[in-house]
Parts: sequence; structure tokens; C-alpha cells
Amino acid sequence: MESPGRYPGGARFAFTIFDDTDDATPENVGPVYSLLAELGMRTTKTIWPVACPEGSRIFFAGQTLDDPGYPEFIRSLAAAGFEIAFHSATMESSERERVVAALDRFREFTGAWPRSHANHGHNRDNLYWGADRIDHPLLRSLYRASLHKPANFYQGHVPDSPFWWGDLCQRDISYVRNLSFADVNLSRVNPSMPYRDERRPLGRLWFSASDAENADEFVALLNEKNQARLEAEQGVCIVATHFGKGFCRDGAVRADVQALLTSMAQRRGWFVPVGPLLDFLRSRRDSETLPQHEWRRMQWRWARDLVARRLRFLLH
Ligand SMILES: [Zn+2]
Repeated sequence: MESPGRYPGGARFAFTIFDDTDDATPENVGPVYSLLAELGMRTTKTIWPVACPEGSRIFFAGQTLDDPGYPEFIRSLAAAGFEIAFHSATMESSERERVVAALDRFREFTGAWPRSHANHGHNRDNLYWGADRIDHPLLRSLYRASLHKPANFYQGHVPDSPFWWGDLCQRDISYVRNLSFADVNLSRVNPSMPYRDERRPLGRLWFSASDAENADEFVALLNEKNQARLEAEQGVCIVATHFGKGFCRDGAVRADVQALLTSMAQRRGWFVPVGPLLDFLRSRRDSETLPQHEWRRMQWRWARDLVARRLRFLLH
């Protein structure tokens, strides 16, 4: 007899998506959500709750709750069972006052504080970002040198900074994302997820993700071989991606994206948003600590995956 799966309902693996809202509009991500809903998958969509009146050179294409029609779109996703999460107050840096307004707006709009948060781009209000994502001294200095940002640029976790909001993150938000990896199965990389990080206490619990910057990378990550391995290893996959980056063409989901998601939905997976998935993983652990050896290994793997990704980018 086949052994029962380790996830609710006898599912053999867990799969979900954390969709960072960069470049997203109802037109260019709506069809992806319709497809996911049809397939019985529920995932997590981040939002920017407030506008960025000063403008943004890089991120201008994405919408916020202040754009006409966008709140109705987000409301329809929430009503369909998608989880709404935080991706910073807006597309550019926010001082505390704007973060407070954004969190209040989020709560007023959804009826609750965000369960989860992921830092966005080069916002100065990002918490523990840049080299502060990691602790290994050598990796920190190499990463810092590659970023071309002054030391202490990211200040969301720094009390007395104009960008400080770490206390609100700790008060209101359960899960914060830190490192992302090339592996489709996070159980191999970060089995102790979600975890407490004593060096980053303003995130109550931290999680990792499988990295897919855009639709091309999403298709590469979720090839049939990787899907089969995720299922065989009874693993966990939380894809960090941007549905706004190339998932739809002329109002329709790209055929290869549609084929891979359809195949995933036909496997015996548990397809719930990030919040409930992390709640479940947490409930199955005795401790919330991250073993030192696991953290050391995560940092090296993250660095290796980052270098590989940058090389691929240079070679294309
Ligand atoms: Zn972003």
C-alpha cells in the first residue's frame, strides 16, 4: 500500500507562489489568477497599499491600491481565496509615516494585518536587506561590494532612522522572506522553515523561497523533472516570482506557463497560500530555531545560486 502523504488531505508535497507585485496590473496578472483559481490552486499576491506620487524610474508600471480599478481587482482575488500580503508601502522608499499609512490601509482594506512580507527592490525601508541579509563575514563583504550601495543604506530595522518600521513589522506581521534559492524543493535547503533568527528579531519568523524572477525563470524552475522530484521528495516549494514580468501575452497566460501549472495541479500536492502553508510547517516543528549548520549552508548556497544567476544573465 502506498504510504500516506505528509501534508493535509494525504497530499505528497506542498506548492505555492509568493507573487511580488512589481509591474503588476489587472490586465497583465489577472489571467494568471483566473488560471490558478480554475486549477484549484490558491497562492499569495502582494500589494503596494499606497501610491508613489514622487514617481519611480524603474517600477512605474506596477499599480497600487490608489489606482482606479485596482482595489476591486484585489478584492476579487481575496474573495476567491487568494492571500494578500505586503511588499513594502509602495514602489519606492517610504519614511515611517508612509509605512504606517500603508499598513493601516492594508488592514482597513483586507480586514487584517498582512500575514507575510517581502522587501522590495532598493527601498530604504527594507529590513535587514543588502549585506544585512547574511552573517558570514566573507560573503557579506563580497555581496556588499557587488551591490553598489552605501553601507547602512537599508534602514527599516534601524531605530531612529526616518525609515524605521521594524517595530510595526514585529507587531503585525508573522512571516518575512529572506533568502531565495535555485532549488525547487526548499526542504532540501531550509528544512527548519519557518524559523526564528536571533540576529533579525524584528521578523517574527522567516521563510525562504525558490527563485524565479520572471516567466522564463518560472518555466525553467518548474520543468517536469523538477515537479516530479518535488513530489518524489515530498518537498515544499514557495516560488518567489513576479507575475507582472512576462506571464501573459495579449491578455492570455503564456502557453508554457499554463501547461506547467496544469501539470502541477494534476499531481498530489497541497496548494494553499503562503500563510497557511507556513502555519502548517510551524505546527509540525518542536522548535523554531534555525540550526547554525543549516544557516551556514544556506548562506553559501544562496551565494552560489546568486553567482550562477548573474553569470547566466551575462551570458544571455
Ligand atoms: Zn519588488
